[in-house]
Amino acid sequence: APIISIRNLTKSYANGFEALKGIDLDVDKGEILALLGPNGAGKTTMISIVCGIVNPSGGQVLVAGHDVVKDFRATRTMIGLVPQELTTDQFETVWNTVSFSRGLHGKKPNPAHIEKVLRDLSLWNKKDNMLRELSGGMKRRVLIAKALSHEPEILFLDEPTAGVDVTLRKDMWRVVERLRESGVTIILTTHYIEEAEEIADRVGVINGGKLLLVEDKTALMTKL
Ligand code: ADP
Ligand code: ADP
Repeated sequence: APIISIRNLTKSYANGFEALKGIDLDVDKGEILALLGPNGAGKTTMISIVCGIVNPSGGQVLVAGHDVVKDFRATRTMIGLVPQELTTDQFETVWNTVSFSRGLHGKKPNPAHIEKVLRDLSLWNKKDNMLRELSGGMKRRVLIAKALSHEPEILFLDEPTAGVDVTLRKDMWRVVERLRESGVTIILTTHYIEEAEEIADRVGVINGGKLLLVEDKTALMTKL
């Protein structure tokens, strides 16, 4: 069975705007899927629903058989999200932010894991710094650390390389590669076709709230 199963997913925002117009998609465990589409296509809306932070208007999303709306407590432990921007309290330390995130995902404390995540992301020497003291790039690293704090089986990255420098981009792909080797399912959004082709197994093209096609990346170029 697929680890993520999306059926006829729709989303209309309060102002009436239809951001998703009936999405169907299955994602297998261990797969890397890129969602490619222009700004406003509905990519963030879609992953926000799968992560349980935005409610759908219709349809169903199952993660490992659990409904993301009705069974959020089960799915939140399985999913990590790297959003585009840091919204956490700027007066908190890096260590507390990342440790607290683990708790929010329903996992017991594990300082050794938090240390490993911070070291992997070159954040260890910043662990006692407040977020407000960090550069933009370091804040992006904190976002990744938060998403890995609870050892998720599925990782979402929303426009991970937008506005990111070369060092962080390399570190990010190293982390993604290692997660892939340990069987983590990865879904990322991008508007760069090169990025989708480089790291994904399959690419879903989304525009105007519709998923236009899902192909393995070798077939993609002939279709676009
Ligand atoms: P929901 O339907 O999920 O309750 P809302 O339509 O109430 O969502 O909007 C949630 C938030 O997003 C509000 O704070 C709103 O101001 C903001 N918002 C409204 N329009 C947009 C937009 N076009 N893009 C991004 N955010 C928006
Ligand atoms: P993408 O991630 O592909 O850029 P989004 O999912 O962020 O697309 O947005 C899809 C569309 O929905 C955009 O037109 C955006 O303005 C609109 N939108 C996003 N959030 C809201 C909101 N809270 N209220 C109303 N419209 C929204």
